[in-house]
Amino acid sequence: MAGYTPMIQQYLKIKAEYKDCFLFFRLGDFYEMFFDDALTASRELEITLTSRDGGGEERIPMCGIPYHSAENYIKNLVDKGYKVAICEQVEDPKMAKGVVKREVVQLITPGTVMEGAMLDEKENNYLASISRFQDDVYGVAYNDLSTGENHVALITDGWQAVVSELFNRPIKEIVVSSELEESFQQDIKDRLRATISYQNGMDIDDSFTHLISALPDERYVQAFGRMINYLQSTQKRSLDHLKPVQVIQLKQFMSLDMYSKRNLELTETIMRKGKHGSLLWVLDQTVTAMGSRMLKKWMERPLLTRSAIEERFNLVTGFLDQFIERDMIREALKSIYDLERLSGRVAFGNVNARDLIQLKVSLSKIPEIKQILQQFTSQRIQRLAEDINPLTDLYQLLETSLIDDPPISVKDGGMIKDGFNEQLDKYRDASRNGKRWIAELEQKEKQATKIKSLKIGYNRVFGYYIEVTKANLHLLPENKYERKQTLTNAERFVTPELKEKESLILEAEEKSVELEYQLFSMIRDQVKTFIPPLQELADRLSQIDVLQGFATVSELNNYHRPTFNEEGTFDIYQGRHPVVEKVMKHGAFVPNDVKMDPEKDILLITGPNMSGKSTYMRQLALIAIMGQIGCFVPCESANLPIFDQIFTRIGAADDLVSGQSTFMVEMLEARHAIANATENSLILFDEIGRGTSTYDGMALAQAIIEYLHDHVRAKTLFSTHYHELTSLEQTLDKLKNIHVRAEEYQGKVIFLHQIQDGPADESYGIHVAKLADLPDQLIKRASVILSELENKQDSLSEVVEKKSDDQQLTFFVYEEDKPSADRQPKNKAETKLINELKHLNLMEMTPMEAMNELYRLKKKA
Ligand code: ADP
Repeated sequence: MAGYTPMIQQYLKIKAEYKDCFLFFRLGDFYEMFFDDALTASRELEITLTSRDGGGEERIPMCGIPYHSAENYIKNLVDKGYKVAICEQVEDPKMAKGVVKREVVQLITPGTVMEGAMLDEKENNYLASISRFQDDVYGVAYNDLSTGENHVALITDGWQAVVSELFNRPIKEIVVSSELEESFQQDIKDRLRATISYQNGMDIDDSFTHLISALPDERYVQAFGRMINYLQSTQKRSLDHLKPVQVIQLKQFMSLDMYSKRNLELTETIMRKGKHGSLLWVLDQTVTAMGSRMLKKWMERPLLTRSAIEERFNLVTGFLDQFIERDMIREALKSIYDLERLSGRVAFGNVNARDLIQLKVSLSKIPEIKQILQQFTSQRIQRLAEDINPLTDLYQLLETSLIDDPPISVKDGGMIKDGFNEQLDKYRDASRNGKRWIAELEQKEKQATKIKSLKIGYNRVFGYYIEVTKANLHLLPENKYERKQTLTNAERFVTPELKEKESLILEAEEKSVELEYQLFSMIRDQVKTFIPPLQELADRLSQIDVLQGFATVSELNNYHRPTFNEEGTFDIYQGRHPVVEKVMKHGAFVPNDVKMDPEKDILLITGPNMSGKSTYMRQLALIAIMGQIGCFVPCESANLPIFDQIFTRIGAADDLVSGQSTFMVEMLEARHAIANATENSLILFDEIGRGTSTYDGMALAQAIIEYLHDHVRAKTLFSTHYHELTSLEQTLDKLKNIHVRAEEYQGKVIFLHQIQDGPADESYGIHVAKLADLPDQLIKRASVILSELENKQDSLSEVVEKKSDDQQLTFFVYEEDKPSADRQPKNKAETKLINELKHLNLMEMTPMEAMNELYRLKKKA
């Protein structure tokens, strides 16, 4: 360091504390970056790299951005997952002895951005923290700094569950202990695509104890502690708007693991990563950004309690029944500002008078909203109205203090109404009187000199002046006027009394601007005390918005209110896929029924590619989810169970999660479902086992079905190409075959998209693959079935011969799947071996015994 200039030394000292950030180092009108920061920033931001002499042997790489356009650059970096530390000059350069003092005044990280332009208004922006307590016990905390909400959850079933939980939310940044296992950190980067930050301290500062009073034990407190410590160390500003921490009881909500959330395209589509084409896209008929964010939260956490679901339905029904009043509510809500985010900004102290006026305008609509709600006949909606606190005091404060159209800047005056403050009124009077006096003086001077064009003007340099054109100069009396400025055509003069008035006016103006700023700060502080009821109001209005949105979308798309049962009946009449029907021509979508109960809980679906199998399966899951978030559902009628969890394995184009093969992903998802599903769960397995050679794929598929049938008992929909599996209906009494009707017409397949009972009458080819981490028992069973199948020479040739003209039907039959020509028919020894194999009781054997047995059989063969 020694050779560097004092400024570079200062830079290096600060940078050492912010190693994982870009350090924006304020130098005059620029933020400069040096050394490696400069190299990376010039590449990421496409700005010119220069260099400067820093006293050392080599020149220092440097690049800079003008401070007034910094926001875009910061956004760009933060969007890419980087952190930015803003280092400002904290003393006046004129006063500084030596190098100007500089400090980091703010740290902007992906999970803590607050600035409007960097936030997507319809999305929450979450920061999360993970804390590990014992082997499988983790605490997860969430915070959205822009809205102030805080949540914690305790997860007791291991790291995978933590990943699934976090996957449910749009999380940009995750705070962990620096000691968290490397492989877990990798998971955070690869699977959750979040920026990692470190914070080891978990003890909570006294000033935050009021936030944690509802937490049941120390683990929750510590989980939140890690996060709040991180916020304190990065934010360097008020965190007054943070709301008390709420415990998320994971069992309160249907759990949707990360695969299902992705596969079902609830809030974004897999291919385009955007909202368009997702279920959210169809359902979002909210009119406020707050409502839109709440809808997304509801979609990620469908309810499990029937009474809570029915409560939402009752409200939706109320809104649905009175469309005129609903329209009025929609209109009124449109003028409501984002109160939730505004509260956050009030706490941070970065609201201006215009924001507060928007707050006032929003509040002015509340009585109207209450009044409209009272016009609904639904008592529940009327009760919603009663619960709304119109914050009249806050409205009065804003109404009496701020003018309706204030400037953006809070430092230039022009914000406060006359009559709000006596002193301010006096200053304003002084300035107004002075100005009137000047106007009168102009008249007097005109008359006295008889110069019609004489005028009094003002500019910043000379203040007030009397201007006379050159042609009229001779009319002026001698000595009365002091010459100030000469223009081409005119001369400007002042008089002592003009100067005197001028200084009175300017002083009054200066003082009034100063006082206005003080008054504004005071108002802002007063608004701050209203943050909790404001947040509550925001919450109520968001709920109303989501519920009216459900009514609106239900009416628009002809959805119906489902009923729920506790008997495990899953019965939908004329169900539709809410998204597919929207992108198709009106009326083109073919509705289908489903009927399942504990006696028939597995449906095996066969039918050619593109016939509509996966659309059908997804539509069942989406109907279940819509029902449990409180929205009506696309069907003529439905009687639904309450599902505790939904698992899916649905083929998708980009299955590659962190470089795993499609088949591996498939097996991981299958394992996840098999390990966690209960009889109250819904499982959708689409084409499990394809992507491996004919037999082991089919064997696995069959073993999985058998396992689900005997051990899991969840409602399961299983689609398959393996026509052979349809014979399972004879052995598994809870399994039923259904198929999608397709007809061959002149060598072409016509898809009717109709679900019918029974197996499809075509058999279709198979894919390729390897094995994964499924339960041992299941794997063993798969190998048994595999060997059985491999001996069924006949059925194999059947599959191969059934090549039709239609490509799709034969798509999965590959050369290597054909039986080799030299394969002989079964001989006696073989038959004997097979018999021995058949009689092996694999379920009773240890893996070692099985190995030994296999070894013995192999020697015989
Ligand atoms: P599969 O899973 O059998 O390969 P998909 O479910 O992907 O088939 O459906 C293929 C296409 O068929 C869909 O993209 C959709 O356009 C159409 N489709 C599916 N189900 C229906 C339906 N019920 N009514 C009308 N069109 C449908």
